[in-house]
Amino acid sequence: MDMATGLPASGAPLNFWLWLAQLFITTVFATGFITYYQQGWHNAHEKYGQRPVVSWMIRLTMLVGAIVLGIALHMIGWRVFANTTGLMFHNLGLFTLTFTLLVEGEALWEYLVQLVAVLFVWNMHHMGYYSDPKYTISLVILAILAVIIWLHKNDIRYYVVRNVGLFTVIGLDFWTLLPRHSAGLTMTPLIAFQGFSMYLGMIIATAFYLRADHLAEVRNEENDQTAHFDSLTNAKSYATFEEEVTAAFNRARQQGQPLTMAALDIDYFKQINDHYGHLGGDDVLVGIAQQLSAVLARHGNRAALYRTGGEEFNVVLPAMDVKAAQPIVEDCWRSVRQGHFHAGDNIVRLTISMGVVDMVDADRNIEDLYRRADEGLYQSKHHGRNTITVNGRTVAGDPERRPIAIRTILTQRVYDTQSQPIVATHDEVILATYAQPYDRWDFPDDVDLPLSVQLDYVQRLLAAECCGRVIMNLTQKQFLDVQTPAYLARFQAHHPALKRLVLELGNLPSAAQIAARTRAFHEYGLRIQLEDLAPFGEDKLIRAVLPVVDGLKFNVERVRAAVEAGQVKLQVDDFRQTMARYNVVVVVNGIKTVMMLITPGRYWVRGMLKGITTTGRNCPGLPDRSG
Ligand code: GH3
Ligand code: MG
Ligand code: MG
Repeated sequence: MDMATGLPASGAPLNFWLWLAQLFITTVFATGFITYYQQGWHNAHEKYGQRPVVSWMIRLTMLVGAIVLGIALHMIGWRVFANTTGLMFHNLGLFTLTFTLLVEGEALWEYLVQLVAVLFVWNMHHMGYYSDPKYTISLVILAILAVIIWLHKNDIRYYVVRNVGLFTVIGLDFWTLLPRHSAGLTMTPLIAFQGFSMYLGMIIATAFYLRADHLAEVRNEENDQTAHFDSLTNAKSYATFEEEVTAAFNRARQQGQPLTMAALDIDYFKQINDHYGHLGGDDVLVGIAQQLSAVLARHGNRAALYRTGGEEFNVVLPAMDVKAAQPIVEDCWRSVRQGHFHAGDNIVRLTISMGVVDMVDADRNIEDLYRRADEGLYQSKHHGRNTITVNGRTVAGDPERRPIAIRTILTQRVYDTQSQPIVATHDEVILATYAQPYDRWDFPDDVDLPLSVQLDYVQRLLAAECCGRVIMNLTQKQFLDVQTPAYLARFQAHHPALKRLVLELGNLPSAAQIAARTRAFHEYGLRIQLEDLAPFGEDKLIRAVLPVVDGLKFNVERVRAAVEAGQVKLQVDDFRQTMARYNVVVVVNGIKTVMMLITPGRYWVRGMLKGITTTGRNCPGLPDRSG
């Protein structure tokens, strides 16, 4: 203790209570400092970001301010106290100078100026000991850290462990490598510890503060996104439309500038929902919004896209009259009709109709403009759709027509030939595809429909007349997917009218896989039927899976071809007995007339759409109801 001042002598450590008090004060200082610093940063980069002069003045003030403050605090520690009481001031100075190295978005020269200030204070602490290897070592470590910070500040700033880790090294580098006499301090290990602990306290406090501040900011941005953007398509929401377009309207009025608005609606969108399910329709909406955004980006983002209704969008083009806007508007229209959009696993093509208007003196408010754009849109619809109407005049039309529905789902009935009279027992969901070159509908062998689309159809089937026992196809992938049984069972649980769900599998995996997966389906009360088997060729596989599957389906043409080719008729009886033993249902597909079918065991007859009509005519007992 220095008797004259009552302060500790230069070589004495802080007593415990003074150390604790200083630790507390430095930590509180650090959080206060960072609050002001963040506010300054926000003003420079965000609030006045658009005004370069103001922004740069704030940045310079912050840069110079932090340096002056850092050096001043250090000088107080040295000149005013010249003993361990100054530890606190040395740390406040060191923190002020080093923490600011982490600042986001600064130029290299700003960073270098800060580094020079750090070096300046660092050197004062080593004055008189420049030849000491400890000085060189501390500088080398500092240089390495400076490079790491410059290269990775964005990966460090908001991560507590990285942030604390890095500054711990700086603190240790500074406090443990000081010479014996350093800026009024006579260093001992205990004093080095006391000094370092304060620095560490500040670093930990600010690291947590930065992290919390960052998380709050991310949350704000997310809230902002939810409030301003439509969650499905990511186009701007209707609320944003009202807000921004009103502002644009007022601005255009004040500045005597033009303003164009293009309302657009997807043509025949209901059909997309009908054919591909609501989820498929959602996919298309997302695709269209992306496509339109890409077009607007191509034109320099001078226009904004809003989702103003279910499948209605609006493009607002500030500072443009319809003449200036027309190339952008036509590009939107053309790019949609030339585009290919996903609906689940399917690709669809579609068109849009548009109504385009620019502001006139008679428009009192944004509603007037919007109403006229909407009228133009409906005029386009009345012109046969796929059309643009500009200020009441239909300018771009497309006489070419193309079918919207290139795939559709139908039902066909399965009949039990054993019953008297013959009755329909199941409805089977089948896919039809439009073959444009021949202008006809085909029934492809490989059915690859998303489950959701088939279930959407099953749901409508149940609402209409349906026997409650439905057969639908699974692709091999869907069959092997472990989620499928539970997914289908959930659907069934929600639809009590669905008494039985049979899954038909065309493209067969191995017998072992069929057996294992079929058990999983059985656990949920779902049935598995194998489709389009070659009755003799796949003999081995069929026998292997017979004990597990519920049904086999043969194509009558293939059976006949096999028999006509003289393939061992003997096996048929044996086969029949085996089926009966395992209680497997046999469905025969492709029957043109019922007469040709002899029915041992439980045979079901199924006709293709055409076939059913024929069947009805040939067999009086058969109800003539095609699906
Ligand atoms: P038009 O050419 O006359 O516009 O025929 P349209 O079939 O497109 O008819 P309309 O515009 O009246 O139909 C809009 C349909 O869009 C009705 C609605 O079921 C569907 N829809 C609305 N919002 C959504 C959505 O968010 N997702 C999906 N999938 N469909 C939607
Ligand atoms: Mg529509
Ligand atoms: Mg509509």
